[in-house]
Amino acid sequence: MADKHRFETEAIRIQAERGPYREHAVPIYATSSYVFDSVQAGVDAFEGASGQPIYSRFDNPNTDEFANKLARLEGMDAGFATASGMSAIFMSLMALLQRGDHVVGSPSVFSSTLKLLNHFLPRWGIETTLAPLSDPAAWRAAVRPTTRMFVLETPSNPGLELADLPALAEIAKEHGILVNVDNCFATPWLQRPAELGADIVTHSATKFIDGQGRVLGGAVLVGKELVPELMPFYRSTGPTLSAFNAWVLSKGLETLAVRMERHCDNAETVAQFLDSHPGVSRVRYPFLDSHPQHDLARRQMRRGGAMVTFDAGGMDAATRLVDRLQIFSCSANLGDTRSIVTHPATTTHSGLSEEMRERVGITPGLVRLSVGLEHPDDLIADLTQALG
Ligand SMILES: *Cc1c(COP(=O)(O)O)cnc(C)c1O
Repeated sequence: MADKHRFETEAIRIQAERGPYREHAVPIYATSSYVFDSVQAGVDAFEGASGQPIYSRFDNPNTDEFANKLARLEGMDAGFATASGMSAIFMSLMALLQRGDHVVGSPSVFSSTLKLLNHFLPRWGIETTLAPLSDPAAWRAAVRPTTRMFVLETPSNPGLELADLPALAEIAKEHGILVNVDNCFATPWLQRPAELGADIVTHSATKFIDGQGRVLGGAVLVGKELVPELMPFYRSTGPTLSAFNAWVLSKGLETLAVRMERHCDNAETVAQFLDSHPGVSRVRYPFLDSHPQHDLARRQMRRGGAMVTFDAGGMDAATRLVDRLQIFSCSANLGDTRSIVTHPATTTHSGLSEEMRERVGITPGLVRLSVGLEHPDDLIADLTQALG
């Protein structure tokens, strides 16, 4: 598909070339290697002249379809499909950074990303400074001559705080710094960081891109100028996504737009219900007028997403609420058809120090909802009984 079509059309119609059986849905190419018809064909494949796949750690029709399609939907030139979101984030750091470099990161990133920034990068001679996500002046102040990358996630997990992407990109451009954005919560349907100045976009496709809680996967999406640095790293270190998972995730992209619209409808309804409920406080949803950055949210996102957080009023109230919910599953995942409730302080963010949790707004009473695709009236009835 050379022509540029609309998001929904590209999400469905970008697919691997049809084989001799003229299959309508793309088959799963469960093969580790590919046959060269001659020595010359092998030479051409290795030189990249023929485009023929060589070995599935490098390329496979299913992983290529998924990576190329997601790159197109993010407005990027190239994509690398990885076995998990963390392998994508790890690759986006290690392929582009070296000893002596400095990174400015947000403290409100996914907890494993924070572990990379605070624990592993320093072990390899790369220093990190953390700057509050919503304060561009703090990012500017943190820049050093050796700063090579900004690492962030917007909206953040679980605080649903936003970064002003054009403002951070402007600071980065002045200093030749790469902007690396985890777009997991928004997906390209709600927000396209590349159009707002990001150089690198990563995904945990495990979440909304699969959308049905089945497989792990991830991707790194970049402009063509970064491909020469990423390609050899990807091929040599082997973070590759399996053909089966790529097939599932590519199918997931086909329905992303319709699913995200319904996720947003349901999440808005739940957020408004909670906002007017006397039993909870500090309801956060990017498109609620009470969100401190709702203007920014409306400028840079199409809609508010599927995640809603609130404070249930302390540890005991939060655990009682989570235990009473019947439809919401208590799980550490998000981005599923099934609504999920998470208590970050005792699960996903229990590894952080209390001081760090305080810094990113994870109070003992904080509850995170990933609003699914069940009927919203049933979700509200479940919350009502659990809060009652
Ligand atoms: C889940 C998640 C990740 C990690 O993805 P995995 O697929 O579990 O490795 C990274 N960033 C965000 C925002 C996530 O929610």
